Amino acid sequence: MSQNNANGNSQSKDNKGEQLYGRKRREGRETRSIKYVKLEKKRPSLTRDAAATRADEEKPQSKRKRGSAGGKKTGVELKVIPLGGLDAIGKNMTVFECGEDLVLDDAGLMFPDDDHPGIDLILPDYTYVLENAHKLRGIVITHGHEDHTGSLPYLYKDLDVPVPIYGTKMTLGLIEGKFAEHKIKNAKLVEIKPGDKIKLGCIDAEFFAVNHSIPGSVGIFFTSPAGNVLHTGDFKLDQTPIDGVTTDFGALARFGEAGVDLMLSDSTNAMKRDFTPSEREVGTTLRAIIAQAKGRVIIASFASHIHRMQQICDAAVECGRKVVVTGRSMIQNTDIARKLGYLKIDDNNLVDAYELAGIPPEKIVVMCTGSQGEPLSALSRIAGGLHKTIEIDEGDTVIISATPVPGNEKAVTRVVNLLSKIGADVYDKSRAMVHVSGHAGAEELKLVLSIAQPRAFMPVHGESSHLRAHAALAEQTGVPESNIFICENGESLVLDENGVHHGESVQSGVVYVDGLSVGDTSQDVLDERVTLGAQGFAALSAAVSMSERRLLAPVSLEMHGITGGDDPYVAAEAIDAVEAAIKRHLGKGATAVELKKISRDTLLNLLWERTKQRPMAISTILEV
Ligand SMILES: [Zn+2]
Ligand SMILES: [Zn+2]
Repeated sequence: MSQNNANGNSQSKDNKGEQLYGRKRREGRETRSIKYVKLEKKRPSLTRDAAATRADEEKPQSKRKRGSAGGKKTGVELKVIPLGGLDAIGKNMTVFECGEDLVLDDAGLMFPDDDHPGIDLILPDYTYVLENAHKLRGIVITHGHEDHTGSLPYLYKDLDVPVPIYGTKMTLGLIEGKFAEHKIKNAKLVEIKPGDKIKLGCIDAEFFAVNHSIPGSVGIFFTSPAGNVLHTGDFKLDQTPIDGVTTDFGALARFGEAGVDLMLSDSTNAMKRDFTPSEREVGTTLRAIIAQAKGRVIIASFASHIHRMQQICDAAVECGRKVVVTGRSMIQNTDIARKLGYLKIDDNNLVDAYELAGIPPEKIVVMCTGSQGEPLSALSRIAGGLHKTIEIDEGDTVIISATPVPGNEKAVTRVVNLLSKIGADVYDKSRAMVHVSGHAGAEELKLVLSIAQPRAFMPVHGESSHLRAHAALAEQTGVPESNIFICENGESLVLDENGVHHGESVQSGVVYVDGLSVGDTSQDVLDERVTLGAQGFAALSAAVSMSERRLLAPVSLEMHGITGGDDPYVAAEAIDAVEAAIKRHLGKGATAVELKKISRDTLLNLLWERTKQRPMAISTILEV
């Protein structure tokens, strides 16, 4: 394979980058024998045992062949520290640290579920980044999804100096919008293109194109004196993508040849057996549904899914309909994507939601937010008859062009039922291919592992079950089990001349954004909210004379949200029990603090006996 061919479509910038930073590594490498071995090597489908045997036989040779170990400086370490993304699909953030240089790869957030009542957002704990802020050379962002960018405004406000943020045009466009909402004006946003290579202290980052459910997605190949790390970013291998951008196989092969000491790869769909279908198939389905629809067509999808929005617009125009965009984030992202050239639709095919009067329903496609059943979203408001300008009638068609994120299933079902009750014809993923995933399935993951040939592997971007499934795929493709690291957030991996091994852990966890407060809501507060929501609340108060050792007035008790708590007999019984306990313990010389605990315990015991509920209870003893 010639150097040019190996570079594939990364073209001249790669060559320039190699000249700048890759020269030393290439010198002295036996390139001819490397290429010979590569060409000769056939990788038929192997059984697991055969793959393991082959790995054992070939690894020493492949180490030499990849030429990576020889190029490393001794005594230098590269630490890879995931601060988020290994316990859930969300809040992705990984630190790369080499000597006095630190690079942050992605800075995402996670949206709360039912376990986090009242919480707006969940961020990874990035204390380690702040503690080492003087070393931070840059933040590299793989793509514009919020699980990769959402922490940036908070992190940026916590950093004293505006650290450069590197991303593609689309990614930076979305970050700019978020920063404007947070009134951040000093951001240093640096645009990169696939094929660019930047120097961040002693760590170099080379970006390569990947295909994903948002345009402008990249993976990153980090090179350092201590070793090379390939991070795929979120990706799939769509061979017929909407914007023509495929995952750059040429770059992956070139990295494999340069030597991938450690690979980090997207585990979201590691448990799905097959190839993820092409986004284009959704377009075909949408067109067929719109073509036969009688009334309005309302399509809800993710506001960042520009490819999907393009397909909705194309299908609408082909069917002689105009597109109305509604929902704040959908309107905002449509504007950004059109301005940056990622979404193409003529002005005369777009209609403002306030100018719908006079346009027949069968000439309209509404593109809106609310695919997750969010109660305040455009779709929920339309379904509930609360939207200012868009109505829904019997016979209209609604397409949920998304899959519910785990935790949102109930909310989506609620909206679907509301729409069905009105008489709308509702399509979701279970009825037609109106959505495909943006993440690679198992076969795609194996293909990328086979091309990149990593010496060590850390699955990322997933829950434990996804990480474990991905680890098994890596082993099947020949990565030795001892070189596969299933880590937790905050654990570190160290690359040095001996390979990859576990390092020290750093502070990690989650930070809750709750209204205006960031990081002030503790787990205890959340536990209390869960108890309040599930078990209700009881408050009792009693006035006692400590000198006369007697109760001065009847105990007062208020109960809310307790099933059976509104039963007057239960309330009377509880008051009697508490009064008796207070009197008894006053006689025994109890202090006011002790009375507070005794009265609360008595109340809770009685309520448990009568209602099998344990509400949050507070007791107040007034000393007179
Ligand atoms: Zn993504
Ligand atoms: Zn992601």
